[in-house]
Amino acid sequence: MNAIFTSTRQFSPMFRRLQTRLTVLYAALFGVVLLGLALTVQAAGSGHAGRIVQSDMAAAGEVFDRLWAVRSERLEAGAKLLSKDFGFREAMATRDSATIASAVDNLRDRLGLDLAFVMSPDGLLLAASDPGANAAAAVVAQALDDGEPMGVATIAGAPYQVVSAPIMAPDLTGWIVFAVRLDRRQMKALEGLSALPLEASIAQRSQGRWRLVTAAADAPSLAAPLRDGFDGLVSQSLNRGTTTLGGKGAPAMVLARPLKTLGGGGEVALVLSYLRARALAPYAPMTWLIAGVGLLGMALVVAGSWALARGVTRPITALTHAAHALQRGDLERVPEAEGRRDEVGVLARGFNAMAEAVADRERRISHAAFHDPETGMPNRLGLERAAKAMLEQPSADSVFVAALSVDRFARVRGAIGHELAAALLDGLRSRATGLRPDWAPGRISTDMLGVAFHATDTRAAAAEVEAVRLELEKAVRLGEHLIDVRITAGLSSPGVTGATATVMIKEADCALDAARADGRPLAAFDARAYAASAAGLSLMPELREAMAADQLTVVHQPKYDLRTQTVTGVETLVRWTHPRRGVLSPDLFIPMAEETGDVRALTERVLAIAVADQRRLTAAGHDLLFSINLSGRLVDDAGAIDTLLEIAGEAAGRICLEITETAVIEKPEAALVNIRRLAAAGVAVSIDDYGSGLSSLSYLKRMEADELKLDRSLVSEITRSAKDALLVRSTIELAHSLGLKVVAEGVEHTDEVALLAAMGCDMVQGYCIARPMTYDKLLAHLEAEPAAVPVAKRA
Ligand code: C2E
Ligand code: CA
Ligand code: CA
Repeated sequence: MNAIFTSTRQFSPMFRRLQTRLTVLYAALFGVVLLGLALTVQAAGSGHAGRIVQSDMAAAGEVFDRLWAVRSERLEAGAKLLSKDFGFREAMATRDSATIASAVDNLRDRLGLDLAFVMSPDGLLLAASDPGANAAAAVVAQALDDGEPMGVATIAGAPYQVVSAPIMAPDLTGWIVFAVRLDRRQMKALEGLSALPLEASIAQRSQGRWRLVTAAADAPSLAAPLRDGFDGLVSQSLNRGTTTLGGKGAPAMVLARPLKTLGGGGEVALVLSYLRARALAPYAPMTWLIAGVGLLGMALVVAGSWALARGVTRPITALTHAAHALQRGDLERVPEAEGRRDEVGVLARGFNAMAEAVADRERRISHAAFHDPETGMPNRLGLERAAKAMLEQPSADSVFVAALSVDRFARVRGAIGHELAAALLDGLRSRATGLRPDWAPGRISTDMLGVAFHATDTRAAAAEVEAVRLELEKAVRLGEHLIDVRITAGLSSPGVTGATATVMIKEADCALDAARADGRPLAAFDARAYAASAAGLSLMPELREAMAADQLTVVHQPKYDLRTQTVTGVETLVRWTHPRRGVLSPDLFIPMAEETGDVRALTERVLAIAVADQRRLTAAGHDLLFSINLSGRLVDDAGAIDTLLEIAGEAAGRICLEITETAVIEKPEAALVNIRRLAAAGVAVSIDDYGSGLSSLSYLKRMEADELKLDRSLVSEITRSAKDALLVRSTIELAHSLGLKVVAEGVEHTDEVALLAAMGCDMVQGYCIARPMTYDKLLAHLEAEPAAVPVAKRA
C-alpha cells in the first residue's frame, strides 16, 4: 500500500495526476492488446496462408495438367474428325490444296486455334493459311520423325502447344497439325482457375538454364526475388514440388511442372508463382482501414478513459477540497454526493455526513465553550465575546460592563440547593434582560451576572444599573420558595477604543468587590483605588521580609468602660513601618495577606507583641483586656487556632479575639467549634463589625461570644437619626439578653458617648476616647486617665 503511494513520487508532475495516469494506462493497455491481436492474426494468417497457397498451387498445377489433357484431346478430336471427313480425304487424295486450306481454316476458326495446317507424311506443308506455318511445319516434321505428334514446341521463339493427328485414307496420307500459342492470354485463363492471385508463365531451358518465355508485353514482370534466382527455383521445384522463397512467411512461392515437349526439343515447364506482396496488394486499403479503425479506437479509448478518470478524479478533487476546507474549519459539502450511486457517491456521502458531524460537534464544543452548562446562558467567555463585538463598533466609548452579584450566594445555595440557585441566577438574568432587552448578559462566576451595554456616560450607566439592581432585589419566586436577595453591583469604566472586554469585565468585578468592601450597593471602577490595592498585592514579598525584620509594630486603642469610666481594655492594631513608604494602614495590606495566607503569621506576630505589651503593662500595675483581630480566614484554620492558643497561654492577663460577624456567618460550623475551643481556653470572643453586614443576632446567640462590637456605620448616625438610635438601642438590649457585652466602635463625638451610655452600651472605643497609640503613649495615657475622660458618669 505504502509502496504504491511512495512510488508515485517518481512520476513527473504531470503523471502525478491520477487522470493522466489512468488515461495513459488504458491507452497503453489497449495498444498492447491491439498489437497482440494484430500479431496473432498475422502469425496465424501467414502460417495458414502459406499452407493454403501451397495446396492451392498444387491444385492449380493439377488443374493445369487436366486442362492441358482436355485441350489436347479436344484438338485431337477435332483433327480426327477432319481426317475422317470424306470430302477432306478426297481433297487430300487429289491434293486439292484450296479445299484443304478452306477446311483447315474453317476448323481453326471454330476451335480458336493459333495455327492449323496439313502436312504430307514426309513433312511437306500441304495447306496453310498462316504465315507462321512454315516454321511450325519444320519443327513438327522433325517431331513426326521421332513419332511424337504432341507437346510443347518453340516456334519462332514462342511456346506453342502442338497437337497432330494422322489422316488415314486408308493409308497415311498426311498429318493435320493444330497449335495454340502459350501466350499471356492462355496464362491468364489458367490463372483465373485459382482463387489465389497466382501467376502462370512458361519457362524454357536453353543452354542449361531455365528462362522465362511467356514474358509478353502485358505480362507483369516477374518480381525481383523470382527473377534473380529463376533458374535455381525452377529446377528445385521440378525436383521437390512447391518451393518457398525466403523461409517461413515467405514473400514468394514457386511451383514448376514439366511440360511434354514436341520431339524432345529442349525442356519446357509451366511455372506457377505466388508473390505475397502482390497477393496482399488488394488488401492494402483494408489494412489502412484497420489501422485507421485502430487509431480511432485508440482515440476513443483515450477520450473515454480520460472522461472515466475524470469522473473518478473530479469527486476525489472535490473531496480533497472539502477535506482542506474542513481542516481550515469551514464546512464544505461535496456536491457529487447526491445522485451518484457508485462507490464514489457512497464515499462522498460518507464524507458529507462526517463533515456535518464534525461541524455539529464543533458547534456543540463552541457552544459549551461560550455557555454556562448550569443555566445555558453565556458564560464569562460568551460575555467577553459579546462585549468585544460591541467594542469593535464605532460607539466603543459608550460601552460599559456591569457585574451584578447575589450577596451571600453560598448561603442561599446552601438553603435552596444548587439547582434552584442556578435557576435563581437565570431568573435574575431574564428579569434584567426583560427590562433592558439590549443588554448582553453572561454568567461571570457562580454568583455573578455580567452585562455589556451602552450608556452615554458613567453617571447614566450607574443610574441604569442601579435601576435594574433595585428591580432584581424584588422577591423572586422559585417553585414554592419566595427568595429575597440583596444584589451588589460593580460598573466598569467606559470602553475606550482598544479596551478589551476581558479588562472591562475585571474592572466591573473589582468595582463590585470594592462596593462590597465599602458596604455600598453599587460602585464604579476606581482606577486609583485599584492601583493602590494592586500596590498592596505587590507588597506581599516585602511583608514577609518585614515580619522577619521586625518592621511590624502595633498600636493599642483603648476600650473605655462606660460603667466604671475607666479604660478596661485595648484593641491591638497592626502597623507596618515600611522603610520607604512610611506607616502603612492595615486596610492596605491585611486583605492581601489574607489572599496570600500571610495573615496567619501576621496574626501570630501581633498576638505575641500584644502578650508582651500586656505583660509589661501588668507589671506597671495596669490590668487590661487585650483584644486582637482574628482574620476571617483563620476562623476555620484549626492549626492557626492551636498556635494562637499556645501564645495566648503565656499571657499575663485576659486575651480577647475579635472575629468579624461576616466570618462567623459564612463559616458557622467552624466558627462555632473554634469559638468553643477559645472559650474553653479562657480566651474571650468578640463579634466585630456588627451592623455592617447581615446582622443576625439570633444566629449569633448560638456562639459562645462575650462581646458584640457595633460597627461605626451603625453608631455614627444615632444622634441624628431616630431610626438608627432605635435600632442601636434594641440591638443593645437584645445583646444583653443574650449575655453579650456591647462595645460601640468608631465613636468620634462626646454626644454619641452620652447617648450610648444612656442606651445601656457597656463600652465605647473611638477617637473621642483615644486614638490607637504606641505602648509608651498608652502607658502615659493610663497614668493620666482620670483627666482624659470627657464623659459624664452614667446616671
Ligand atoms: P477594626 O477591627 O474595625 O479596627 C478598628 C479600626 O477603626 C482601626 O483602624 C481604628 O484605627 C479605627 N478607629 C478607631 N476609632 C475610630 C474612630 O473614632 N473613627 C474612625 N474613623 N476610625 C476609628 P485600623 O487600625 O486602620 O484598622 C483597620 C482594620 O484593619 C481593622 O478594623 C481590622 O479589621 C484590621 N486590622 C488591624 N489590625 C489587625 C490585626 O492585627 N490583625 C487582623 N487580622 N486585622 C487587623
Ligand atoms: Ca477589631
Ligand atoms: Ca471593628
